[in-house]
Amino acid sequence: MPKIILLNEDTACRIAAGEVIERPVSIVKELVENSLDADADLVNIAITNGGIGAIEVVDNGCGISQEDTPLAFHRHATSKIISSADLENIRTLGFRGEALPSIASVAHLTIKTRVPTNHEGFQMVIQGGQVLHNGPVGCPVGTMISVKDIFFNTPARRKHLKSKTTEGGLIADFVYKMALIKPQTKFIFNHNGREVFRSPGSGKLHDVLASVYDVRAAKMMLPITGEEAGVKIDGYISKPELSRSTRQHMTVAVNGRLVHSSAVNTALEQAYRGKLTVGRYPVAVILIWLPFKQVDVNVHPAKMEIKMENEEQVMRLVISAASRALRETNLIPCQSKLP
Ligand code: ADP
Ligand code: MG
Repeated sequence: MPKIILLNEDTACRIAAGEVIERPVSIVKELVENSLDADADLVNIAITNGGIGAIEVVDNGCGISQEDTPLAFHRHATSKIISSADLENIRTLGFRGEALPSIASVAHLTIKTRVPTNHEGFQMVIQGGQVLHNGPVGCPVGTMISVKDIFFNTPARRKHLKSKTTEGGLIADFVYKMALIKPQTKFIFNHNGREVFRSPGSGKLHDVLASVYDVRAAKMMLPITGEEAGVKIDGYISKPELSRSTRQHMTVAVNGRLVHSSAVNTALEQAYRGKLTVGRYPVAVILIWLPFKQVDVNVHPAKMEIKMENEEQVMRLVISAASRALRETNLIPCQSKLP
């Protein structure tokens, strides 16, 4: 066996990037989550060629100070937790301190950022983990990060990317979902210089539903609410007349984090049993709030998987809130249920 060595920072970053940054949408996800953690209420996302060409995310959040900006590109450098005890109580979307160094290690990245207390901003240009330039720059308060030549130094990963249309579609779906779970934030999404989507940022989920789907679809959505033993849910679910052929339109967030939860999906589908034909799924946005201590978000680097301590209680609550909303509306039973 060769001697054991400690990998250098550059190599460690590239290995970590393999887990966090799988494709262009992973970069958009990490940058948008950082913007939201920075309390931005405006997040402007622009991509070219499905994000394979370039990705730019601009926010009006708190910015990063000049001293902290270089540190933000070190692995495990974060302003969001201090010690392992904080892992039990995570309120921010990020906390691993891995996204920025990972992105900078597999792409060409430029950051311009300014905190409100400074008259000028700070800029860094990083290529494959190497800092090419840093210094003062004029820019508004907030942060702008642009990324291009994604995976220029990891050709195997670049080869695995799908078409521009597919990659761009994944990014659009992600932006729609974030807009739905964060109605108070205005999202703007441009693709190849054309505005694709803009959410109102009015704080009202129903307004976002109208902009993501359309006014007609939004009118077919029923509000749901429920609360039991410290667990709260709210959101909207579609009348059975409005359904889709995939589960893609079931959006679930736990404590403000977009998640994949087959448990919540199953619960929701159970509420629609007998009301939708096989292979049809509701449109839904379900926002779940649990005591932070009852959720483990440190399950996977991408943080889309979570563990809920009281999953069964959450499922029961989803079933009862959704069933109640469906009962209270004028249901048109599907053909097979007619006498
Ligand atoms: P994490 O989000 O897990 O802390 P990141 O690598 O994504 O790790 O970011 C590192 C740090 O850089 C963050 O903790 C935060 O302090 C700062 N940062 C990143 N993006 C922004 C942003 N858009 N606005 C303000 N600060 C940011
Ligand atoms: Mg982050």
